[in-house]
Amino acid sequence: MDIKRLLEESSRYLMNTYNRYPLILRKGRGTKVYSIDGKEYLDFVGGIAVNILGHCHPKVVVAIQKQAQRLLHVSNLYQIEPQIKLAKLLVENSFADKVFFCNSGAEANEGAIKLARKYAKERHGEEKFEIITALNSFHGRTLATLTATGQEKFHKGFEPLVPGFRHVPFNDIEALRAAVNDRTCAVMLEPIQGEGGVVVPSHEYMKGVRELCDERGILLILDEVQTGVGRTGRLFAYEHFGIEPDIMTLAKGLGGGVPIGALLAREDVAGAFVPGSHASTFGGNPLTTQAAIATVETVLEDGILLEECRRLGRYFMRRLAGLKDSFSSIIVDIRGMGLMIGMQLTRDCAPIVKACMEKGVLVNCTANNTLRFTPPLIVTEKEIDTVTDIVEDILARLS
Ligand SMILES: *Cc1c(COP(=O)(O)O)cnc(C)c1O
Repeated sequence: MDIKRLLEESSRYLMNTYNRYPLILRKGRGTKVYSIDGKEYLDFVGGIAVNILGHCHPKVVVAIQKQAQRLLHVSNLYQIEPQIKLAKLLVENSFADKVFFCNSGAEANEGAIKLARKYAKERHGEEKFEIITALNSFHGRTLATLTATGQEKFHKGFEPLVPGFRHVPFNDIEALRAAVNDRTCAVMLEPIQGEGGVVVPSHEYMKGVRELCDERGILLILDEVQTGVGRTGRLFAYEHFGIEPDIMTLAKGLGGGVPIGALLAREDVAGAFVPGSHASTFGGNPLTTQAAIATVETVLEDGILLEECRRLGRYFMRRLAGLKDSFSSIIVDIRGMGLMIGMQLTRDCAPIVKACMEKGVLVNCTANNTLRFTPPLIVTEKEIDTVTDIVEDILARLS
């Protein structure tokens, strides 16, 4: 394969929406990916928190192969067996009573915004439509979800934005309390801000948000697109905080690599949607739901993977905290939960990402200065050691 030609054709034929590395990946197994020229990489990006079971997990591969031979797609005009089975699996393992399937995180959040507005208008009148979200949040790239996203850099050039959104500082209950008014219909938050730099709120804050929503008759929407499906060491991140949302969205980890999103809600809230309210052609199709069943069942199996995720996450954070002691002028903070970990630096982390890649390790950079580690739940202590040692070498050369 002519790598140079492929890279030229990439820039000639694809819209220029990503700053891509000149790295062409062709194969993956477990925690490793392999480039077209045969180089091996330890993958601690995992498709940005998507490949929760690593690459080509046998259970997911077999589920996809079997379903591909049976039936790929039929319309939601008909009953879809694996869709029903996946909905039951999610309901039995969450706060929710009802599920709607779609294809991505942004689409799940669009559904959540529509559901919250419809519910609130029917209960409380036409004027109850405002949704409060957090500064520094990320909820997607469609017009409504980019408006919900509390970062100006995502808004620029796309105005006029969708009316009815307000942003408040994250992890600040007084700011939220002050922003609530008679028009507020929902508060929408990530339990841990992912794209904002792996920002973990306090337990008191999350409990306070739940109490405030209850007091004022407001829905709590948790965007678990990145934190959901085991990433933080619990099936859903809200479990860590001892609260439950009214609406939750999932996507990234849900299909173990295939594109699927989900919108989950309590019975009375879900009841605001009736035939015609919302739809998606591909949503919950036989192939993606079969892959998601295999993924969720494997994550839940005996709770071993979730327990390992918590243990390995603690181990990784301890090792990174060790680096912080040696490189206190470069490392500001280590944050995270389970295998969603951020290392905030005093500088742009792009050169470190590049240096890691040269040493055969994939990590990524979020919020410009935070190195993010989202390895699959099947990662080993030894692989965590390898990555930590390589990051240590690179920091030593920098300082
Ligand atoms: C990635 C992400 C989204 C958007 O998901 P897409 O599938 O890219 O549309 C929304 N919310 C959060 C918290 C995310 O991390």
